[in-house]
Amino acid sequence: MEVNCVWLGQGSFLFESGNTRLVVDPFLSDVVEQREGFKRLMDAPLTIEELKPDYILITHNHIDHFDPVALPEIHDFYPKVPILGPTSVMRLANEMGFNQEVLQALEVTEHLPLGDFNVTITPAFHSDPFSIGCLLNAASKTIYHTADTIFNQSLVAEVKRLSGKKIDSLLTCINGRLGNMNWEEAAQLAGQLGVEKAFPMHYGMFAENTEDPVKFINECNRLGIQSAELIPGKKTIL
Ligand SMILES: [Zn+2]
Repeated sequence: MEVNCVWLGQGSFLFESGNTRLVVDPFLSDVVEQREGFKRLMDAPLTIEELKPDYILITHNHIDHFDPVALPEIHDFYPKVPILGPTSVMRLANEMGFNQEVLQALEVTEHLPLGDFNVTITPAFHSDPFSIGCLLNAASKTIYHTADTIFNQSLVAEVKRLSGKKIDSLLTCINGRLGNMNWEEAAQLAGQLGVEKAFPMHYGMFAENTEDPVKFINECNRLGIQSAELIPGKKTIL
Protein backbone atom coordinates (compact mmCIF):
# COMPACT_ATOMS: atom_id res chain seq x y z
CA MET A 1 0.00 0.00 0.00
CA GLU A 2 1.17 3.53 -0.76
CA VAL A 3 -0.03 7.00 0.03
CA ASN A 4 -0.24 9.59 -2.68
CA CYS A 5 -1.55 13.06 -3.23
CA VAL A 6 -2.95 15.09 -6.07
CA TRP A 7 -2.39 18.82 -5.61
CA LEU A 8 -5.44 20.85 -6.57
CA GLY A 9 -3.63 24.18 -6.19
CA GLN A 10 -3.34 26.53 -3.16
CA GLY A 11 -3.63 24.35 0.01
CA SER A 12 -6.05 21.97 -1.69
CA PHE A 13 -5.26 18.24 -1.92
CA LEU A 14 -6.72 14.85 -2.63
CA PHE A 15 -4.90 12.21 -0.57
CA GLU A 16 -5.35 8.57 -1.38
CA SER A 17 -4.31 5.44 0.46
CA GLY A 18 -5.82 1.96 0.35
CA ASN A 19 -9.52 2.49 -0.29
CA THR A 20 -9.73 5.97 1.19
CA ARG A 21 -9.86 9.34 -0.53
CA LEU A 22 -9.34 12.23 1.85
CA VAL A 23 -9.86 15.71 0.43
CA VAL A 24 -8.38 18.73 2.23
CA ASP A 25 -9.60 22.30 1.53
CA PRO A 26 -11.16 21.74 -1.92
CA PHE A 27 -10.84 25.15 -3.56
CA LEU A 28 -12.44 24.80 -6.97
CA SER A 29 -14.41 27.99 -7.69
CA ASP A 30 -13.83 31.58 -8.79
CA VAL A 31 -15.11 32.96 -5.48
CA VAL A 32 -11.89 34.86 -4.75
CA GLU A 33 -12.19 36.69 -8.06
CA GLN A 34 -15.85 37.48 -7.36
CA ARG A 35 -15.14 38.78 -3.86
CA GLU A 36 -11.58 40.12 -3.99
CA GLY A 37 -10.91 40.59 -7.70
CA PHE A 38 -8.00 38.08 -7.73
CA LYS A 39 -8.21 35.93 -10.83
CA ARG A 40 -7.24 32.25 -10.67
CA LEU A 41 -4.05 31.53 -12.62
CA MET A 42 -5.00 27.86 -12.92
CA ASP A 43 -8.27 25.98 -13.21
CA ALA A 44 -9.13 23.35 -10.63
CA PRO A 45 -7.61 20.15 -12.06
CA LEU A 46 -10.49 17.95 -10.83
CA THR A 47 -14.24 18.44 -11.14
CA ILE A 48 -16.64 17.76 -8.27
CA GLU A 49 -17.64 14.51 -10.02
CA GLU A 50 -14.00 13.41 -10.14
CA LEU A 51 -13.29 14.27 -6.50
CA LYS A 52 -15.11 11.21 -5.05
CA PRO A 53 -14.16 12.00 -1.45
CA ASP A 54 -14.68 9.66 1.48
CA TYR A 55 -13.85 12.46 3.92
CA ILE A 56 -13.49 16.23 3.55
CA LEU A 57 -11.30 18.14 5.98
CA ILE A 58 -11.41 21.94 6.02
CA THR A 59 -8.57 23.67 7.87
CA HIS A 60 -10.08 27.14 8.42
CA ASN A 61 -12.80 29.51 7.30
CA HIS A 62 -11.00 31.57 4.63
CA ILE A 63 -12.55 31.43 1.18
CA ASP A 64 -9.54 29.83 -0.52
CA HIS A 65 -9.94 26.88 1.93
CA PHE A 66 -13.62 26.81 2.89
CA ASP A 67 -14.75 27.57 -0.66
CA PRO A 68 -18.26 29.00 -0.10
CA VAL A 69 -19.25 28.24 -3.70
CA ALA A 70 -17.69 24.82 -4.26
CA LEU A 71 -18.15 23.29 -0.79
CA PRO A 72 -21.98 23.50 -0.79
CA GLU A 73 -21.96 21.96 -4.29
CA ILE A 74 -19.66 19.17 -3.11
CA HIS A 75 -21.90 18.64 -0.08
CA ASP A 76 -24.99 18.45 -2.35
CA PHE A 77 -23.25 15.98 -4.66
CA TYR A 78 -21.92 13.82 -1.79
CA PRO A 79 -24.50 14.44 0.97
CA LYS A 80 -23.30 11.57 3.19
CA VAL A 81 -19.59 12.39 3.13
CA PRO A 82 -18.31 13.65 6.50
CA ILE A 83 -17.05 17.23 6.59
CA LEU A 84 -14.56 17.83 9.38
CA GLY A 85 -13.10 21.07 10.60
CA PRO A 86 -12.43 23.33 13.58
CA THR A 87 -15.06 25.50 15.34
CA SER A 88 -14.90 28.33 12.77
CA VAL A 89 -15.58 25.89 9.93
CA MET A 90 -18.44 24.17 11.80
CA ARG A 91 -19.98 27.57 12.53
CA LEU A 92 -19.90 28.60 8.87
CA ALA A 93 -21.15 25.21 7.66
CA ASN A 94 -24.08 25.44 10.08
CA GLU A 95 -24.89 28.98 8.94
CA MET A 96 -24.86 27.76 5.34
CA GLY A 97 -27.36 25.01 6.18
CA PHE A 98 -25.11 21.96 5.77
CA ASN A 99 -26.56 18.70 7.07
CA GLN A 100 -25.49 18.60 10.71
CA GLU A 101 -25.23 14.80 10.62
CA VAL A 102 -22.11 14.90 8.46
CA LEU A 103 -20.38 17.73 10.32
CA GLN A 104 -17.63 16.76 12.74
CA ALA A 105 -15.79 19.29 14.89
CA LEU A 106 -12.03 18.90 15.28
CA GLU A 107 -9.79 19.96 18.14
CA VAL A 108 -6.06 20.56 18.02
CA THR A 109 -4.09 17.49 19.27
CA GLU A 110 -6.99 15.15 18.46
CA HIS A 111 -6.19 11.81 16.77
CA LEU A 112 -8.84 10.22 14.60
CA PRO A 113 -9.10 7.36 12.14
CA LEU A 114 -10.47 8.29 8.71
CA GLY A 115 -10.62 5.04 6.73
CA ASP A 116 -7.06 4.03 5.85
CA PHE A 117 -5.68 7.27 7.33
CA ASN A 118 -4.94 8.09 10.93
CA VAL A 119 -5.15 11.83 11.27
CA THR A 120 -3.72 14.05 14.01
CA ILE A 121 -4.85 17.66 14.20
CA THR A 122 -1.99 20.13 14.55
CA PRO A 123 -2.10 23.78 15.53
CA ALA A 124 -1.83 26.51 12.88
CA PHE A 125 -1.07 30.13 13.75
CA HIS A 126 -3.16 32.14 11.32
CA SER A 127 -5.72 34.96 11.25
CA ASP A 128 -8.61 32.51 11.74
CA PRO A 129 -7.73 31.71 15.38
CA PHE A 130 -9.30 28.25 15.01
CA SER A 131 -7.03 27.28 12.09
CA ILE A 132 -5.58 23.77 12.08
CA GLY A 133 -3.11 21.70 10.10
CA CYS A 134 -2.88 17.92 10.01
CA LEU A 135 -0.55 14.97 10.25
CA LEU A 136 -1.65 12.05 8.11
CA ASN A 137 -0.47 8.54 8.85
CA ALA A 138 -1.07 5.97 6.13
CA ALA A 139 0.87 3.13 4.52
CA SER A 140 3.62 3.46 7.18
CA LYS A 141 4.23 7.07 6.14
CA THR A 142 3.70 10.30 8.04
CA ILE A 143 2.76 13.39 6.08
CA TYR A 144 2.41 16.88 7.51
CA HIS A 145 0.14 19.42 5.80
CA THR A 146 0.80 22.80 7.44
CA ALA A 147 -2.36 24.48 6.06
CA ASP A 148 -2.06 28.26 6.48
CA THR A 149 0.24 29.28 9.31
CA ILE A 150 3.14 31.46 10.24
CA PHE A 151 6.39 29.83 11.35
CA ASN A 152 7.28 29.80 15.03
CA GLN A 153 8.97 27.50 17.51
CA SER A 154 5.65 26.46 19.12
CA LEU A 155 4.59 25.09 15.77
CA VAL A 156 7.79 23.08 15.39
CA ALA A 157 7.63 21.76 18.96
CA GLU A 158 3.94 20.83 18.84
CA VAL A 159 4.16 19.11 15.46
CA LYS A 160 7.20 17.12 16.61
CA ARG A 161 5.43 16.14 19.82
CA LEU A 162 2.20 15.17 18.06
CA SER A 163 3.88 13.17 15.30
CA GLY A 164 5.88 11.18 17.86
CA LYS A 165 8.09 9.85 15.07
CA LYS A 166 9.84 10.83 11.89
CA ILE A 167 7.82 12.88 9.42
CA ASP A 168 8.40 11.59 5.91
CA SER A 169 6.82 14.31 3.77
CA LEU A 170 6.01 17.95 4.36
CA LEU A 171 3.49 19.98 2.37
CA THR A 172 4.04 23.60 3.31
CA CYS A 173 2.77 27.05 2.43
CA ILE A 174 5.55 29.32 1.15
CA ASN A 175 3.78 32.51 0.05
CA GLY A 176 4.94 34.66 2.98
CA ARG A 177 1.88 36.91 3.00
CA LEU A 178 -1.46 37.24 4.77
CA GLY A 179 -0.45 35.23 7.81
CA ASN A 180 1.63 32.55 6.11
CA MET A 181 5.32 31.72 6.42
CA ASN A 182 7.67 32.58 3.59
CA TRP A 183 9.86 30.16 1.60
CA GLU A 184 12.86 30.60 3.91
CA GLU A 185 10.83 29.89 7.02
CA ALA A 186 9.18 26.95 5.28
CA ALA A 187 12.61 25.48 4.49
CA GLN A 188 13.64 26.09 8.10
CA LEU A 189 10.51 24.19 9.18
CA ALA A 190 11.46 21.29 6.89
CA GLY A 191 14.97 21.27 8.36
CA GLN A 192 13.86 21.49 11.98
CA LEU A 193 11.29 18.73 11.52
CA GLY A 194 13.91 16.56 9.82
CA VAL A 195 11.64 15.53 6.96
CA GLU A 196 12.83 13.42 4.06
CA LYS A 197 10.78 15.20 1.37
CA ALA A 198 9.26 18.67 1.26
CA PHE A 199 6.79 20.05 -1.26
CA PRO A 200 5.81 23.71 -1.57
CA MET A 201 2.16 24.75 -1.81
CA HIS A 202 -0.03 27.87 -1.58
CA TYR A 203 1.57 29.66 -4.53
CA GLY A 204 0.79 29.98 -8.23
CA MET A 205 -2.94 30.56 -7.73
CA PHE A 206 -3.10 34.37 -7.71
CA ALA A 207 -0.62 36.85 -9.20
CA GLU A 208 -1.22 39.04 -6.13
CA ASN A 209 -0.17 36.34 -3.65
CA THR A 210 2.41 33.96 -5.06
CA GLU A 211 6.07 33.02 -4.72
CA ASP A 212 8.76 31.31 -6.76
CA PRO A 213 8.89 27.70 -5.46
CA VAL A 214 12.41 27.20 -6.83
CA LYS A 215 13.81 29.31 -3.97
CA PHE A 216 12.25 26.89 -1.46
CA ILE A 217 13.32 23.81 -3.43
CA ASN A 218 16.94 24.98 -3.68
CA GLU A 219 17.11 25.77 0.02
CA CYS A 220 15.67 22.34 0.90
CA ASN A 221 18.19 20.65 -1.37
CA ARG A 222 20.97 22.62 0.34
CA LEU A 223 19.70 21.19 3.65
CA GLY A 224 19.78 17.66 2.19
CA ILE A 225 16.00 17.42 1.84
CA GLN A 226 14.42 16.12 -1.37
CA SER A 227 12.11 18.71 -2.83
CA ALA A 228 10.17 19.22 -6.04
CA GLU A 229 7.22 21.12 -7.41
CA LEU A 230 3.95 19.24 -7.37
CA ILE A 231 2.15 19.28 -10.72
CA PRO A 232 -1.51 20.21 -10.22
CA GLY A 233 -3.75 17.26 -11.08
CA LYS A 234 -0.89 14.74 -11.14
CA LYS A 235 -0.48 11.96 -8.60
CA THR A 236 2.67 12.09 -6.44
CA ILE A 237 3.68 9.23 -4.15
CA LEU A 238 4.51 10.59 -0.71
ZN1 LIG B 1 -4.89 30.41 2.18
